[in-house]
Amino acid sequence: MSTAERSAAHEVAGVGAMLLGCIADDFTGATDLANNLVRAGMRVVQAIGVPAQPLDSDADAVVIALKSRTLPVEEAIAQSLAALRWLKAQGARQIYFKYCSTFDSTAQGNIGPVTEALQDALAGVPGSDFTIATPAFPDNQRTVFKGHLFVGDVLLNESGMQNHPLTSMTDANLVRVLQAQCRRKVGLIDYKVVAQGEVAIRERIEQLRAQGVAVAVVDAISNDDLMRLGPALKGMPLVTAGSGVAIGLPGNFGIVPSSTASTLPAATGLQAVVSGSCSLATNRQVQAFIQAGHPALAVDPLRLATQGATGVDVVAEALAWAEPLLNQGPVLIYSSADATAVKSVQGQLGVEAAGALVERTLAAIAGGLVTRGVRQLVVAGGETSGACVQALNITQMKIGPQIDPGVPWCHAHTEAAPREGLHLTLKSGNFGADDFFSKAFAVLA
Ligand code: ADP
Repeated sequence: MSTAERSAAHEVAGVGAMLLGCIADDFTGATDLANNLVRAGMRVVQAIGVPAQPLDSDADAVVIALKSRTLPVEEAIAQSLAALRWLKAQGARQIYFKYCSTFDSTAQGNIGPVTEALQDALAGVPGSDFTIATPAFPDNQRTVFKGHLFVGDVLLNESGMQNHPLTSMTDANLVRVLQAQCRRKVGLIDYKVVAQGEVAIRERIEQLRAQGVAVAVVDAISNDDLMRLGPALKGMPLVTAGSGVAIGLPGNFGIVPSSTASTLPAATGLQAVVSGSCSLATNRQVQAFIQAGHPALAVDPLRLATQGATGVDVVAEALAWAEPLLNQGPVLIYSSADATAVKSVQGQLGVEAAGALVERTLAAIAGGLVTRGVRQLVVAGGETSGACVQALNITQMKIGPQIDPGVPWCHAHTEAAPREGLHLTLKSGNFGADDFFSKAFAVLA
């Protein structure tokens, strides 16, 4: 879409540049949604928490990343409503509440209660009495059939999610799961309706409305389903979904996929990878990077734990190691280790203490690397990314081109890189191909 066409779309949409205002219940989930919107042609800014100031850049969509998935219900609602107020104040035409594609929630919520609080807050806006709910994301093997969520070839409650420590999912029937969290009546728009397209979906919505249904789970087993669903959601004040539904929404605002949506400032500076993820995928990526001949330094959590007593300064050591190497190409600093090693460390330090110690250290190293001229930073690990972004005092990121599914490059302003800002990519554990680290820098080049 040309600039002229884009501003025309904005004019049609009304005052304020923002078309879609999104509220995501966790950090990497926010990036996943932003990435899908960019691929569908929207210029997207991701905000870390509810911004204190009005939006200062041009964006078709803003995704506010909260950490509300497992908060007590009242806190999750309060944060989500604060995000809604900010988005509405920026002129957002449609609100998108984004949750995990495995519908991660406890028996109390928070998907149902947050959805209803948003509906309550939007009461009076025509159409806000009805919304949809679907975590379908076929590109990531999440499909919904007859209201039942499949992860790959198995039902949600057989996918491993039944054992999740915080949000154990023991029922794949999302109508039942959501109804247990909602005061409002929950219904279903099934695959037969979705297959017929926009008109049939709208008719079904009216039918459900007449039956007193306020939230409908929607079947989708392919991207075609999501593309058929998109037009039927045009004008719906609130949409709730995983990141999949996002692929069908930009078209409602006259926006079509284009590479300009993902344009970032030109990349400059030195390159580094900081990895605190211990997932199987990340461990493979660390090995592939080392095998490709790049310098790599392992951070040992047990040395970290004793550095007060031994006088060792692991952060200073790591930065001194990296400094002479950075001019020759990307370096890797990692705590990533296999499950046996991690278990052993956790046994000695405690799970949370070990996690927090490593996160703090890697974040300080990331900060030090940027101070030393790194302007292209890859961070592996969801919690590790959160710690690094916090240490760099980053509050907003412009979303750029995708490296691998779900993981885009971003550009952010930080005091540590005052002039040109920082290109960074935040990779959650299991995302990315084995050559992700090398590929990331190639994509930016
Ligand atoms: P992922 O996205 O793969 O879940 P995270 O960064 O979210 O990665 O979580 C990894 C957690 O493990 C972090 O809290 C990190 O500090 C911790 N950690 C990293 N390396 C080690 C290690 N060698 N031993 C124990 N814990 C570690």
